[in-house]
Amino acid sequence: MSIGKLIVLTGPSGVGKGTLLKLLLERHSQLYVSISATTRSPRPGEVDGKSYYFVSRPQFAEAIGSGSLLEWAEYAGNYYGTLRHQVEEKIAEGKWVILEIELKGARQIKQSFPSASSIFILPPSLDELEKRIKSRGQDSSEAIALRLATSRLEIAAAKEFDYQIVNENLEVALAEIEAALFTNQATISAS
Ligand code: 5GP
Repeated sequence: MSIGKLIVLTGPSGVGKGTLLKLLLERHSQLYVSISATTRSPRPGEVDGKSYYFVSRPQFAEAIGSGSLLEWAEYAGNYYGTLRHQVEEKIAEGKWVILEIELKGARQIKQSFPSASSIFILPPSLDELEKRIKSRGQDSSEAIALRLATSRLEIAAAKEFDYQIVNENLEVALAEIEAALFTNQATISAS
């Protein structure tokens, strides 16, 4: 049986982490994406237990208190966290568990699991990121402004992670992630 491992995929909201992950999962059966808990309301099309576990603030607070979260953070006014049992279970099964999380959570994981591989996805530019977040059409103008301000701070931390990959062209970015995960020879393309 293969040996499980933990992979952190981070980068600003709207950078395309979700799309990259979907393609990675289709191509590599040993990968598993952890489903997080969040207090954010579901967006149209999101399914409870598939996109996220959508929970109330008291439920989230209880999960923190009981030590059920491997990491957690507040992001743009909502709470997000990784469920410890899910990750431990999948790693024990030999899966490569990917956490698609924001910067504060990614830093927590780097600290508690120094052997985890970490990848930071960068946008080609901030203008492009703004366009992508707006074109999703899922967030209010206040939420977009908050996400963009957070993105600027997050991008400044890209170099803390093992690999920095620019998502300008999806196929190129995907190939770079695969190189990082499977051969440890990613093209490092930091801004
Ligand atoms: P969104 O609301 O767009 O789904 O996610 C907002 C941000 O929260 C994204 O950057 C996403 O990667 C991050 N996120 C999702 N799940 C988790 C989690 O379990 N922990 C942390 N720290 N961040 C998460």
